[in-house]
Amino acid sequence: MPREFKIYHSENVPDDIVDHVEMLLKDIYGLAFRIVGVRIPRQNCWDDSKHSFDAKALVSNMGRDSITYFTWIIDKPLMVNQENVYGYAEPLKGSIGTTSKLATKTLIAKEVAFHVGKVLGLKICDMDCLMRESESFEKLIHKPSILCKMCKIRYQRLMIRYM
Ligand SMILES: [Zn+2]
Repeated sequence: MPREFKIYHSENVPDDIVDHVEMLLKDIYGLAFRIVGVRIPRQNCWDDSKHSFDAKALVSNMGRDSITYFTWIIDKPLMVNQENVYGYAEPLKGSIGTTSKLATKTLIAKEVAFHVGKVLGLKICDMDCLMRESESFEKLIHKPSILCKMCKIRYQRLMIRYM
């Protein structure tokens, strides 16, 4: 498990959103999260016809800069394989999320926390749980901001394995 988990954001993401995300992440995962600051997405990852950033390309750019265990919140739309998404994660590497289609900081934090769970090794869960897949807006609104009992146990095991 990382000693600290880094939070980056693009310049137009308001501080109160970033602070709210950090608070929820600390609550759920009990790790040291650190808001590193502004990181601007590279323009060569932008697709003009789709008006979106390529989420995979942005995450792999971070890897090229040897940055791991991070989440990155940006204000522009994101896509994976040409489809718009709220966020994207690669296990043991990092995740990215967008504020562009989510109206409240509660929804943004919930979506970021779901992807951070994947980075930390949690899998998709079918229970009434934060790790439930939320491909639609409705599902994202209705799922809880906490891990179910089973995911809590799984997370504890992951922590022990990495320590
Ligand atoms: Zn669960």
